Amino acid sequence: MQIDHKCAYGPCVCKVPEAGQYCSDYCLEADKLPAEGKPCSCEHEECNAEQSV
Ligand SMILES: [Zn+2]
Ligand SMILES: [Zn+2]
Repeated sequence: MQIDHKCAYGPCVCKVPEAGQYCSDYCLEADKLPAEGKPCSCEHEECNAEQSV
């Protein structure tokens, strides 16, 4: 079983440790705002790779 889970911010594909909901403060703030259609830009590698495809 993996203990990692996905960031609670929908567009974000980062994994976060079980202790936290968000991978970063960016996602914590972004999840409070309407962000439909916006890609995550938390600057983590996983999200940057997603955008460049
Ligand atoms: Zn992200
Ligand atoms: Zn995130």
